[in-house]
Amino acid sequence: MNNQDLVNKAFEAMKDAYAPYSNYHVGACLLCKDGRTFKGVNIENASYPAGVCGERSAVFAAYSNGVRKDDIEAIAIVSDGETLAAPCGVCRQVLSELLNQDTPIILSNGKLYKETNINELLPMQFGTEDLNK
Ligand code: ZN
Repeated sequence: MNNQDLVNKAFEAMKDAYAPYSNYHVGACLLCKDGRTFKGVNIENASYPAGVCGERSAVFAAYSNGVRKDDIEAIAIVSDGETLAAPCGVCRQVLSELLNQDTPIILSNGKLYKETNINELLPMQFGTEDLNK
């Protein structure tokens, strides 16, 4: 599966986003090295902090099925916004632990496109090694 196919799957996923408050829809699709894919969408809630972002729901779906960082080929994150859906701070923290540093993170809104990785998105990371005393 090439990057455009993965982006297309993320756009398919986006149709299931639950975003009645922001009306900002996000879809994500995580591709494993064995070809499996895991979709995720943003899911909002009337209690706003209880919602979850699309990329986190895709990564959590993968991990819930036994996937670990070395199994992951790439993740695409798309939105219907005017700008690229760069992961929020919380998602960057999660991705810094659950993806490899150089795993491609592909962002698109259908007009703009960027490939990056968590090392670029989150410098000076706080991680498990910081907890080892
Ligand atoms: Zn987020």
